Amino acid sequence: MNHASARPESGQPHQVIIVGGGAGGLELAAKLGRKHGPQCVTLVDSRPIHIWKPSLHEAAAGTLDIYQEGLSYLMLANLCGFTFALGEVQAVDRERRTIQVAEVRDDQGEMVLPERQLPYDTLVLALGSESNFFNTPGAATHAVTLDSTENAEAFRLTMLKAMVQVDQAKVHDPSAELDVVIVGGGATGVELAVELHEAGGIVAAYGLPNFRADRDLVITLVEGGPRLLGPLPEKIAKAAHERLTDLGIRVETDCRVAEVREDRVIAADGREFRSNLCMWAAGIQALPLMASLGMPVNRVGQLIVNERLESPDPHILALGDCCAVPMGDGKRTVPARAQAAHQQASYLAPKLTARIRGREEPTAPYRYRDHGSLVSLGQDAGVGSLMGRLSGRGLFVSGTLARLMYMSLHLMHHHAVLGLWRTATLALARLLLRRTHPRVKLH
Ligand SMILES: Cc1cc2nc3c(=O)[nH]c(=O)nc-3n(C[C@H](O)[C@H](O)[C@H](O)COP(=O)(O)OP(=O)(O)OC[C@H]3O[C@@H](n4cnc5c(N)ncnc54)[C@H](O)[C@@H]3O)c2cc1C
Repeated sequence: MNHASARPESGQPHQVIIVGGGAGGLELAAKLGRKHGPQCVTLVDSRPIHIWKPSLHEAAAGTLDIYQEGLSYLMLANLCGFTFALGEVQAVDRERRTIQVAEVRDDQGEMVLPERQLPYDTLVLALGSESNFFNTPGAATHAVTLDSTENAEAFRLTMLKAMVQVDQAKVHDPSAELDVVIVGGGATGVELAVELHEAGGIVAAYGLPNFRADRDLVITLVEGGPRLLGPLPEKIAKAAHERLTDLGIRVETDCRVAEVREDRVIAADGREFRSNLCMWAAGIQALPLMASLGMPVNRVGQLIVNERLESPDPHILALGDCCAVPMGDGKRTVPARAQAAHQQASYLAPKLTARIRGREEPTAPYRYRDHGSLVSLGQDAGVGSLMGRLSGRGLFVSGTLARLMYMSLHLMHHHAVLGLWRTATLALARLLLRRTHPRVKLH
């Protein structure tokens, strides 16, 4: 059955609007744009540049340059055949089937684009998520997050400045050090800890004569659960834990953070950790827009959709971190991961094609396939498991092979958007740039 036909009075083709050009939304816009063109498909994002979110910990450490890495949505729209609208979606009028896109101003406050109302026949929400501070006192004020490229870039610059300051301070005070506390021992926290450790060493080598990362950069990773990487197999968690402690990173498990202050992080059991910089990577929640739709959301604010990614409103679908999709057993929901967002984009493409063409929609439900998990443990190491297709059991991988596989996930995202040749050219160009650029962004 075709639930959401085009407005008959308009005589226009079916309008699909995708809000959020992240891991899932951009792939969906590219797939649909190539097939149906800009008159049918519009992507809206509050930012002009796309960065694949799982690489934000590298941006925060400076091992990835967001200005090199970012892909312009306008360029992608031109390449893939969709319309791009810049601006933050502030409200959805379900009755009139329009979205309200906020005005856009430049850094000087000059108006670039006015507020707009865009009409849709089908709206796909792909807004992602933001950090969940779980009402921890001081966290929102004193901790930074990896929610956006702006956050990652701000963290990088603060970290760089702090390292220079410690380098200077060491002339008079040999005990000066930089204390970084990362809250959350999931994949983001683990990857960030290793990346910061490596980046610290590289920055020091580029010209901080008094700063030694292995001595003066104190990284503490705090996890509330009994072990790191809670949802992943024990073997992976153990390997990651060993790698971190080998690098001199302090790992504190069973340690629930009760308060974040400007200069320290305090645990519920009284433990205290000095902190010049605190990064919060301890959980996610959906953006407030999801709760404003007047449809059921779960306890972290994700829109509850069915296994066909449909909301109770037949004109609204959702994918990725912003929604809760039931898993096979009905008790759990699909994890908030790029892997899931990618699969859901692939699932929705034929469904939306059917809507655009006014045909019967496929009825098969979306089934999450866990292809395994890979965790980066620095530039030349990783750890993870790959799910065997036949046995359904995980194959443990580690070292350089795991790291290469991890990097290939990013390339697969580029491939879905840019196609094979452009992805290959981009990868080669980035490899060549490494010969003339510092390994860590220094300005
Ligand atoms: C540091 C880090 C490492 C990670 N590593 C992994 C990993 O290794 N593997 C993995 O599977 N997952 C990983 N994840 C999780 C993964 O990034 C997310 O699950 C995935 O990006 C979700 O995709 P999405 O399309 O739902 O949203 P996102 O990729 O977050 O995209 C959301 C988009 O919506 C836009 N947007 C938001 N609000 C508005 C609005 N109001 N109006 C207009 N536009 C809006 C944003 O600008 C953004 O472009 C990691 C996450 C982080 C932070």
